[in-house]
Amino acid sequence: MTIPDPHAVRAFLEERHVGRAAEAAAFSDREFKPRPEPRDDAAARVEARALLGMIGAAGWLDPIRDQDWRGCCLAREALAAASPLADAVFALQGLGTLPILLSGNAPMRARWVDAAIAGRAMAAFAMTEPEAGSDVAAIQTTARREGDVYRLNGTKTLISNAGIADFYTVFASTDPGARGKGISCLVVPADAPGLEFVKPQILSAPHPLGEIAFQDCRVPAANRLGEEGRGMALGLQTLDRMRATVGAAACGMAARALAEAHAHARARKQFGKPLAEFQLIQEKLARMATDLTAARLLVYRAAWVADGGQDRVTLEAAMAKSFATEAAQRIVDDAVQILGGAGALASHPVDRLYRSVRALRIYEGTTEIQHLVIAGQLMQGSGA
Ligand SMILES: Cc1cc2nc3c(=O)[nH]c(=O)nc-3n(C[C@H](O)[C@H](O)[C@H](O)COP(=O)(O)OP(=O)(O)OC[C@H]3O[C@@H](n4cnc5c(N)ncnc54)[C@H](O)[C@@H]3O)c2cc1C
Repeated sequence: MTIPDPHAVRAFLEERHVGRAAEAAAFSDREFKPRPEPRDDAAARVEARALLGMIGAAGWLDPIRDQDWRGCCLAREALAAASPLADAVFALQGLGTLPILLSGNAPMRARWVDAAIAGRAMAAFAMTEPEAGSDVAAIQTTARREGDVYRLNGTKTLISNAGIADFYTVFASTDPGARGKGISCLVVPADAPGLEFVKPQILSAPHPLGEIAFQDCRVPAANRLGEEGRGMALGLQTLDRMRATVGAAACGMAARALAEAHAHARARKQFGKPLAEFQLIQEKLARMATDLTAARLLVYRAAWVADGGQDRVTLEAAMAKSFATEAAQRIVDDAVQILGGAGALASHPVDRLYRSVRALRIYEGTTEIQHLVIAGQLMQGSGA
């Protein structure tokens, strides 16, 4: 099975995507599949930097710069199938640089985006706080304007690439009384005085994560992206664009799990015949394949709409992200079940997928929040 499989979603792709999908699959299989899983958080941090250099040098981050969302989805499917850590590296380059691209900030673009796309600078996206998770408008980090600088104070938690990023795209309140309408977005270089890496936060799957804090951290006002007070809108626009690609990563993990389970079911014999000949196993494989195809169709529909230049893809992206990540969780779980004890061993690829896929239902907006978004659109009379 080739991952990604462009034929499953051919109606949403152009000819150039089909060749690109094959290249992405071959590159990921060759470069990332054979790499061992980092043994601890420190090793994962070193590995993430190495993966960034490889992905950037090979041009796989270019679709982010070009805002080619179907290209991003194909790349993430391929990366996630071979290495969930490589996929996370891709995702953060997108999240950290997209606000710069969307705000049209030429100096920031020249300083950070080119290096990030080439894989020379690592990006991070710092929105979540201890008291502001799903409720982004509750952000308490402040950015007070003092002449031509902003002075930042506050804490950000659950930040991917914390401690290893070269720059952070940070959301902070410039007008605390105005909640969501008082949030601004600033690019903060990792070496800015007053920015501290507080501690790593360890996940069961390799993924550099941690807490950062700002203590009277002074950032030039020129580092603000877009207008003051428009940061939350910029953040939500970024998430709107990136959510279909989270769904694509989920599809990549699910497709790999299905391929592993299918191969095992054909090879492993119990009660005198291959597992694949038992109808209870066939029923699982059929459901996994159908769920995966449905997820891919929603994901590539959302990316196709985004590539069409539509301003908001909120509904399509929310459906794609929530359905694909939930389906992937079920598919990976079924794969572990089909593999039996072998699938529960930490060294097996499906166990790594099992540990990796869980976070996708949480980050960039939980499933519940996506369902609220979908329901909200329905109430406003938007079609599905
Ligand atoms: C691996 C990983 C990487 C991450 N990377 C980043 C990053 O790089 N940058 C960043 O800024 N953040 C990052 N996050 C944080 C992530 O975006 C948040 O965890 C997420 O937005 C949820 O916030 P929370 O954890 O505070 O949960 P909460 O908002 O406290 O939610 C807890 C539960 O309550 C539910 N809930 C909340 N509100 C409602 C409601 N109104 N109705 C119904 N249910 C509700 C949620 O769906 C969830 O199930 C990352 C998280 C993980 C796990």
